[in-house]
Amino acid sequence: MKRAIYPGSFDPITLGHLDVIRRASFMFDELTVCVLDNKAKTSLFSVEERVKMITDATADLLNVNVDYYSGLLIDYAKQNNLHIAIRGLRAVTDFEYELQIAQTNKELSNGSLDTVFLTTSLEYSYLSSSAVKEIAAFNGDISKFVTPEVCKLLKEKYKR
Ligand code: ADP
Repeated sequence: MKRAIYPGSFDPITLGHLDVIRRASFMFDELTVCVLDNKAKTSLFSVEERVKMITDATADLLNVNVDYYSGLLIDYAKQNNLHIAIRGLRAVTDFEYELQIAQTNKELSNGSLDTVFLTTSLEYSYLSSSAVKEIAAFNGDISKFVTPEVCKLLKEKYKR
């Protein structure tokens, strides 16, 4: 069985992430979307909130499951016997950063974890969680970037 993991912050999940998830779910028998609790980053949504948003948004994809982990991706992958990580590439600017992470993970895992890159669908190439949060913070229209549920949750966050 071909299994893969799509790790990230997903703070919050955008239609760009969902596009990658959908396409990866067609390529693999089982896909785990894993919210990595990165202590170096301050997040708007809690890990539980992010897991719930992803679970709801991927409910129609039967081979996709959602999990979270506070630690290194390679450790989660080892514990769960996973050998392929999916990452998305939007623009050339993503490449250098992603290449560094991919090579580090390969090295740290003693060659056990490979990274497969999916290039973004053009309509989402400009889309990032940070941009969505910035627009939402100023009460801008984010309905084209996230699911209606995430849109609602973002509005609630910034109302406070
Ligand atoms: P991280 O904090 O680990 O970079 P993100 O949640 O920002 O996590 O992104 C997770 C992955 O999804 C990264 O590989 C990122 O490049 C990719 N990604 C983010 N937005 C998009 C998008 N609009 N299209 C394709 N891939 C994307």
